[in-house]
Amino acid sequence: VKTHGKNGYAVYTSDMLNNSIEELKLETDLRKALDNNEFLLHYQPQICNKSGGIVGVEALIRWNHPKLGLIYPDKFINLAEETGLIIQIGEWVIRQACIQNKKWQNSGIKPFKIAVNLSTQQFFKLNLVEYVKKVLDQTGLAPEYLALEITESMAMDFNYSLKVLRQLKDIGVCISIDDFGTGYSSLSYLKNFPIDYLKIDRSFVSDIMVDDHDVNIVKAIITLAHNLGLKVIAEGVETKDQLHFLKKYKCDEIQGYLFSKPISAEQFEENYTN
Ligand code: C2E
Ligand code: CA
Ligand code: CA
Ligand code: CA
Repeated sequence: VKTHGKNGYAVYTSDMLNNSIEELKLETDLRKALDNNEFLLHYQPQICNKSGGIVGVEALIRWNHPKLGLIYPDKFINLAEETGLIIQIGEWVIRQACIQNKKWQNSGIKPFKIAVNLSTQQFFKLNLVEYVKKVLDQTGLAPEYLALEITESMAMDFNYSLKVLRQLKDIGVCISIDDFGTGYSSLSYLKNFPIDYLKIDRSFVSDIMVDDHDVNIVKAIITLAHNLGLKVIAEGVETKDQLHFLKKYKCDEIQGYLFSKPISAEQFEENYTN
């Protein structure tokens, strides 16, 4: 493989993806990727600010492309959405995450929740609730150990969203609002939707040490969440200063490179079990 520049392979990959002919090829490849077993999940720990222990992991998809190597979701999730492939891929993610978490629990480590990102299409697909129920049944994972991350855009159809969220809550899974503060937020859905967690978007966290506005936004989100009985996870925590700030203002959980990048299941076991 042609390795130009200091990023070598990565540069080559993104150059290729900018080319529309290559994008067409990528679509053809994406259609085969599930059958060829080319997807995998990486896991990023979520740490309790009080205990310092792992209370969750977020499952993040990667595509091990036969020629291009590891491709990150920013490069193929849009394509998966445009082509509708996201439904099957998303179902694979839910299943794989439940299988993996059950495996960890069976190995005897302290149970934690596994968080899965839902795409908008998945959220509005009629069989979502049934599918989640079925996978929990088949894998034997207790529902409280599965968290579904949705974004503010999924609240657009208030009545429908409320119905789906209530059905998911009835099953017993956790619901988190991802990237909170970056989308269309309405206080009425925070009040009415059966939500368990708000995830403060990285864009706010990354500037809390330099920007007073972000300091105030983060403080306000934490206060708002706690007043509504919700827990807060800060994402993209990279520095000790950020961590200290988040601890001081009683953010419940943190996730970010400071503690760990997303890692493979094998790496996770190596790092956190013995
Ligand atoms: P997200 O849900 O906001 O996930 C967090 C992203 O931030 C991840 O990127 C993660 O690797 C990265 N990150 C975590 N900690 C840090 C940090 O401290 N600093 C920085 N700079 N970045 C950090 P990733 O894995 O590339 O995923 C990107 C996005 O792709 C995700 O954003 C999510 O929206 C989407 N995605 C990932 N997996 C899935 C999936 O299975 N299904 C769907 N529909 N979307 C997914
Ligand atoms: Ca997420
Ligand atoms: Ca996020
Ligand atoms: Ca984000």
